[in-house]
Amino acid sequence: MSTLPPSELSQRVYLDYAATTPMHPEVLDAMLPWLGLAEAGSFANPASLHSEGKLARQALDAARAVIAQAIGATPPEIVFTSGGTESNNALIAGIAQGVRARYGPVKGGNLVVTSAFEHHAVLEPIRALRRNGWQTVELKPSRAGLIEPAALLVALEQAAAAGGTGSGGAAGGGAADAARTSGAATGGAAVARDGSGTTTAAAAQTVSAAAAAAAGGASTPTPTSDFHCTLVSIMTVNNEIGTIQPIDELAAISRQHGALFHTDAVQALGKIPFNVNALGIDAASFSAHKIAGPKGVGAFYLRTLTPFNAQMLGGGQERDLRSGTVNVAGAVGFAKAVELALLQLEAERTRLAGLRELLVKELAALSPQVHLTIDAEERGFIPNIISILIDGFESEELIMRLDSAGFAVSGGAACSSASLEPSHVLLSMGLSRRQAQSVLRISLGSNTQAGDIDGFMQEFRQVVN
Ligand code: PLP
Repeated sequence: MSTLPPSELSQRVYLDYAATTPMHPEVLDAMLPWLGLAEAGSFANPASLHSEGKLARQALDAARAVIAQAIGATPPEIVFTSGGTESNNALIAGIAQGVRARYGPVKGGNLVVTSAFEHHAVLEPIRALRRNGWQTVELKPSRAGLIEPAALLVALEQAAAAGGTGSGGAAGGGAADAARTSGAATGGAAVARDGSGTTTAAAAQTVSAAAAAAAGGASTPTPTSDFHCTLVSIMTVNNEIGTIQPIDELAAISRQHGALFHTDAVQALGKIPFNVNALGIDAASFSAHKIAGPKGVGAFYLRTLTPFNAQMLGGGQERDLRSGTVNVAGAVGFAKAVELALLQLEAERTRLAGLRELLVKELAALSPQVHLTIDAEERGFIPNIISILIDGFESEELIMRLDSAGFAVSGGAACSSASLEPSHVLLSMGLSRRQAQSVLRISLGSNTQAGDIDGFMQEFRQVVN
């Protein structure tokens, strides 16, 4: 394995916590017994009936309970996955197919609404639905990096006026009709366990909306002739600019129009209070590695009785919602990371807000050449993501120069930084291509100290002057 020499590592300053975080030592400690050593006796398959299996099952159940409690859900509403990408893919395709399987394309709606600045892990599964005949709408964020509730309302009202065929999706004129006659949209089948324990092709979660309503609380919407939109998916916190979206308002508007609501909460969990009931949402996606947990582990929340067709089919693990032997150590580590993040949430938020203020004050001295990409003060933002625009510089060049001076920052989303394409997030907010290619994302985290900000600013001043 090639790593940076310890002498170099200790001098480097990592300012890319929105891309990923170092694992907390307590998370590693919690995971170690479950990593599979025979002597520990805890390597077993949690689905096995013997004592070893039960031990693993108990650890998994405890992890599930921690995550459920953290977001105000019940344990059966939490499903472990391989991360945020899988959670988003599973929920978007699974809910769209589940609604259609239950209600058909007319009553179930044929429209999925999202925002243009979602992570690709939301945009791409929605574009895949479009290729399969769904109407889709990508709402444009404001220049302040917000999805305005009024914009969603207009899209849903236009869809209602158009009779449920969407209002500007790219699927083309005949696509809606084609979808209506072609049955279920994409692959994947609903699965449920029958009495003998085998997987059947019956719908597990595609239960009646009336039953959902009878269950009380924020129930699954009942489709009526006004049920034009199937699903709305808007992220809670944007990963490039850090703005917090008005999820409660967006979810309420969706519900009024009979649409289910999903949020990609990968950058929100453990950073801001997040309660599925207070927000009134039906589904959410999470990832462990953004909050000092392990990589390759995540979870989704799916409100009880929400229509859903499982995407990962097989042995029926996770109550038939996601087959595959669960990563017990990963789930245990994720739960520990959530626990630690919640314990420190307010204190860490205040501390990071102080560091942000320090950085923003220093950057202000470099104005107008350097300025914040958005006027985030208008509404909510998380303090640890700071996006800045540097006139006359390419982000790639800045990243390289800062890197050789020992500072790790990013130009946008990590996954797109390998390409020269400007960030779709910044373009969607109205920045020109040139501006979007002059943006740096500085993201702070648990190990960031005031000295790191000072050191960064010293170097940054030299680079841009
Ligand atoms: N959604 C958002 C908002 C993210 O920031 C990320 C990670 O960059 C993902 C989804 C993907 O999560 P994962 O890396 O766990 O697949």
